[in-house]
Amino acid sequence: MNNSKGVSRQPVVLVVDDDMALRLLIVETLLEDNLAVEEAEDGVEALELFQRSSPDLVLMDVKMPRMDGFTACAEMRKLPNGIDTAIVLVTGLDDIASILRAFDAGATDFMTKPVNWPLLSHRVRYLLRAGDAFRNLRQSEQRLSIAQKIAKLGNWDWVFDKDTVYCSNQMCTLCGRDPVEGPFNHEMFLQYVHPDEKEAVLAAVKKALEEKKSYHLEYRIQQADGLTRIIHEQAEVEYDSNGSPVSMHGTVQDISERKQSEEKIRFLAYYDSLTGLPNRQLFTKYVEQALLAAVRASNKVALLYIGIDRFKRINDTLGHSAGDDLLKMVATCLSDSIRRSDIFGKFVSSKESEIILSRLTGDEFSILLTGLFIEDSISGVVLRILDMLQKPFSVGGREINVSCSVGISVFPGDSEGVEALLKNSDVAMSHAKQSGGNTFKFFSQDMNDRATERLNLEIDLKKALARDEFVLFYQPQVHLHSGKISGLEALIRWQHPERGLIVPLEFISIAEESGLIIPIGAWVLNEACRQAYAWQQAGLAPIRIAVNISSHQFRQGGLVTMVKQALDDSGLSPSMLELELTESSIMQDIDTTITTLSELKALGVTLSVDDFGTGYSSMNYLKRFPLDTLKIDRSFVMDITTDPNDAAIIIAIIALAGSLGLTTIAEGVETQEQLQFIRQHHCDEVQGFFISNPLPADEVAYCLVPALVLC
Ligand code: C2E
Ligand code: MG
Ligand code: MG
Repeated sequence: MNNSKGVSRQPVVLVVDDDMALRLLIVETLLEDNLAVEEAEDGVEALELFQRSSPDLVLMDVKMPRMDGFTACAEMRKLPNGIDTAIVLVTGLDDIASILRAFDAGATDFMTKPVNWPLLSHRVRYLLRAGDAFRNLRQSEQRLSIAQKIAKLGNWDWVFDKDTVYCSNQMCTLCGRDPVEGPFNHEMFLQYVHPDEKEAVLAAVKKALEEKKSYHLEYRIQQADGLTRIIHEQAEVEYDSNGSPVSMHGTVQDISERKQSEEKIRFLAYYDSLTGLPNRQLFTKYVEQALLAAVRASNKVALLYIGIDRFKRINDTLGHSAGDDLLKMVATCLSDSIRRSDIFGKFVSSKESEIILSRLTGDEFSILLTGLFIEDSISGVVLRILDMLQKPFSVGGREINVSCSVGISVFPGDSEGVEALLKNSDVAMSHAKQSGGNTFKFFSQDMNDRATERLNLEIDLKKALARDEFVLFYQPQVHLHSGKISGLEALIRWQHPERGLIVPLEFISIAEESGLIIPIGAWVLNEACRQAYAWQQAGLAPIRIAVNISSHQFRQGGLVTMVKQALDDSGLSPSMLELELTESSIMQDIDTTITTLSELKALGVTLSVDDFGTGYSSMNYLKRFPLDTLKIDRSFVMDITTDPNDAAIIIAIIALAGSLGLTTIAEGVETQEQLQFIRQHHCDEVQGFFISNPLPADEVAYCLVPALVLC
């Protein structure tokens, strides 16, 4: 017999009986068998002795004065040395009730009176040996549990026929579950798996069963208190002799700390510790991937190399710590700018586009723009960034004004690889610095010329409103069934003093990037309403007028007030005004869209979706929007008679509009065949050069003579 320290000693039996004669007889018998014996005459004395001498076995009568055997047994079980000591209660032969109570009180076994003397010693030895084995088992379980705790290792067994999962203590701890709650089923087990990884866990189990292979997997466990741990799990299936799966066994190891360290190492290797931005090494990897993707998708990549002007002087004057603070603020300002849709909206709206900001060295940052089709907007973006950086930064209690120089190179175009892209944009940045800073330069001269031209256009555009240089042209829309004019779309033109009439394609994007679209849009709306009402006053047939609303106007807020004001000021009936919205503007921020559209509808105006089919429309949202018309984009109409795909798209759009209770207008109809096709497929209205080009107001007036039929 081993004690708790593993030292061998003579087993001790505690004999408890108020019948002194019987007690002595038992004691004698056991002593003869070379066992150490303690004796007590009732439960109270037995309890005292039990605590003092920690016996290996208790033989106890049930009926005794002061404290009976059941109570004493239950009390002993509560003591630290009472958990695994064998306690045998001695009852009358036919006393079934006492046997049941003995079990409830926690007795290991029972013995009946009269005592079978020849067997007593053997019985006691068997019980002592069983107790010993039980203790050994418990000790090794404890050792295993301690080892698992140190190694943060747990295990589970899932028995299929009962759908029961048994978890080790450490596994329970990992899940934040109390082991006393006992086993549970597999579905409950899965509740501890992070929702994002449940599917992966189920797939691994399924694969292991199908392929009869073990699996290992890393996933997150979500504890009851919300804390997350990352574990590495290894599991395998056990089969019966027929090859049918019976259970699954798994070990899990908590690798959260290791993962955190790995993450930290990765961060140190790939990120700049001052600003938290990707460093040159990671940035170069992004550029490499971006170039490969650009080749695949036949689009372009631009690299903006940004240097803070005269940073060295700031650093020398204010000290390095202030210099660091300034760099952090510039980094935050640049991060904010790449998130702002009014600056980068054009780039991020395309699915292939990505914007990555990095700190390359000391005072040099870089922005990578991917998935570009038109490079012309880059200069607009850079101007906005330079603008944002011009606000004063508060460093060490002082207000500091900084400016930056930006160099830009483009792939494919002026730079054919990662190194060239970085080097050329750096060279371009040096040119920007040499020309006085607070400006940008493209590496390619051609791009510089285009950027200058664009810049000049922006300067002119700012003056155009005040100089009253905008005019509206009107393009008729015709009802296909009746052939009568159903509406006019107002299309802006810029009467430039030197360049002549400029079409929207050349200046709308500049107006959007510079924010000028808001006052220009307001002018268009007022002018269109004024003109429509003026025609009515002149005795012409009332006509619906369609006005294009850019996504900036739609997102800006205040559109509803602006429309109401234009209607009130002009006197035009709201039912005569249609607003053309783009797919991309209504498909962002759905809740705001629904509110704005409903408010516009409440004014009494009609709403159409322009260039339908070119953006991304969710049918789910479309049916929730209070719209009236879908305008099928010109790009589908163009090849309608030669490209079966386009024809199919048009037929589908008309069917979709029909099911949503919307009317359709086909845009850009240029030929008799195209007109024929859309008429055949029950499009409601048509617009295009085949009917009429956009016309100046005085020329369009004749179309409004009542009952004019155009096709
Ligand atoms: P949109 O709203 O889709 O307008 C239709 C454009 O297609 C007009 O070009 C029109 O002249 C042209 N078009 C019409 N029929 C045909 C045809 O049969 N064949 C061809 N090839 N083209 C046809 P425009 O006037 O150059 O306007 C271009 C875009 O500029 C407009 O497309 C619209 O998105 C925008 N835009 C025009 N005026 C405004 C305005 O006042 N505000 C805003 N935000 N955008 C405007
Ligand atoms: Mg339009
Ligand atoms: Mg259109």
